[in-house]
Amino acid sequence: MRVAWQHNHEWESALRHLAIIGSGPAGYYTAEAAQKQWGDDVRIDVFDRLPVPYGLIRSGVAPDHQSIKAVSRRYEGVALSDNVHFIGNVTVGEDITIAELQGLYDAVILATGAPNDRPLGLPGEGLGNVFGSAAFVGWYNGHPQFADLGPDLSGKSAVVIGNGNVALDVARILAKTRAEFEGSDIVNHALERLDTASLDKIVILGRRGPHQIAMTPKELGELGHLSRAWPHVEPADLPPEAADAALDPGQRKSVTLLRQFAAAGAQGKRLEVAFDFFASPRAILGDGTVSGVEVERTRLEGDRAVGTGETYVVPASIVVVCIGYQTSPIPDVPFDEKAGRFANEEGRIAPGLYCVGWARRGPTGTIGTNRPDGFAVVENIAADLAPGSDKQGRDGFDRLAEARALKVVRFSDWKKIEDAETRRAREGAPREKFVSIEDMIATTRNQ
Ligand code: NAP
Repeated sequence: MRVAWQHNHEWESALRHLAIIGSGPAGYYTAEAAQKQWGDDVRIDVFDRLPVPYGLIRSGVAPDHQSIKAVSRRYEGVALSDNVHFIGNVTVGEDITIAELQGLYDAVILATGAPNDRPLGLPGEGLGNVFGSAAFVGWYNGHPQFADLGPDLSGKSAVVIGNGNVALDVARILAKTRAEFEGSDIVNHALERLDTASLDKIVILGRRGPHQIAMTPKELGELGHLSRAWPHVEPADLPPEAADAALDPGQRKSVTLLRQFAAAGAQGKRLEVAFDFFASPRAILGDGTVSGVEVERTRLEGDRAVGTGETYVVPASIVVVCIGYQTSPIPDVPFDEKAGRFANEEGRIAPGLYCVGWARRGPTGTIGTNRPDGFAVVENIAADLAPGSDKQGRDGFDRLAEARALKVVRFSDWKKIEDAETRRAREGAPREKFVSIEDMIATTRNQ
């Protein structure tokens, strides 16, 4: 039972014990905010189900976007503070329950992101060589859960469903040559497979039009600078140029790029990356393995796409569905099924239980959006927490971990994994990731 605060200075300065579940951007920005809020008076344990930290930075951000991945250095600064510990290889809901964590910590903050694919809900989605973007991106980024995905890239045509930045990432990775991966940390198994690919065409399906894309200009612009691939936009799909004036500046830049793509044409390049706008998927076709996507032509009513009844088939030897993600439910934590995230009010789930980042608001915004999110949840926790704590925090967790023989991976163990990954990198690459949990853990023991 919590001991009442008695205007006693010892209680006033008593430690707060926080457990943050998830070591991606939302997790580390929350840890940073908690350090700023409580200074030496807080102990923060950052849990992850993987033996390696940084979540989306390691497993989601594209391997050829190393400048974005560099934000992990900032998180390392937080992780190396005395009052922050990394507790890897522990799955909340399996190795330890939420109720147990709440018994040990003053606040438990779920920063678990949105690692699962949102299903398309169409016939044929289960056919061979049809993948959700979480799986496909996880595969080329070496996430242990997807390392064995083994996509067949020997066919001629790929279809990427969705008009967001993830669709762009997937199309660009499929389009690049080996030389264009120089300096990236794409894992060897993906590089080898992509190297043997013989795609002629990558179709990006958007159910609405150029004004409704969810692609940001910097990312879209990259498609115009690929060595063998060219972006194909049909001029007829573009609204009259005067209509661009009503767009916000970022979106106007993106649409301007689409106009430039439409004007530039193939320029002698052989791999077409075709934007098929006003095209809503209706079914994935094939016999065992995918052979095409049935699509219905749409038109806009206001901002909404409505079917016209006209259908056609886009041939596809591989399909990657990039229509957004959802959070993994955790036993006993209220979940909003429709929104695909934890049920919460501004990050509050229940007394002592919070969520932040994609687990709070769904998969939107950039990595930087998680910083204000982290600060906001800490402000709420500070307002909610009674001064003083009778929780055991880290000591209590350590006892429980020992009793259960959990193979906890500490930050110093991660540094051994990181060193080994750096040493085994191919020339010019920052690292060659281990793609199995067993190999990661063996590395922590070998040195
Ligand atoms: P997103 O931005 O929400 O885009 C999802 C796309 O899927 C939209 O074009 C949406 O179209 C479409 N879609 C949804 N349901 C569909 C359906 N049933 N049929 C056809 N299309 C459907 O999601 P995301 O691309 O997964 O990205 C997630 C977040 O990560 C975003 O905030 C993104 O900007 C960010 N991200 C950033 C970067 C970067 O900055 N480099 C890279 C990757 C991801 P409607 O608009 O019509 O719904």
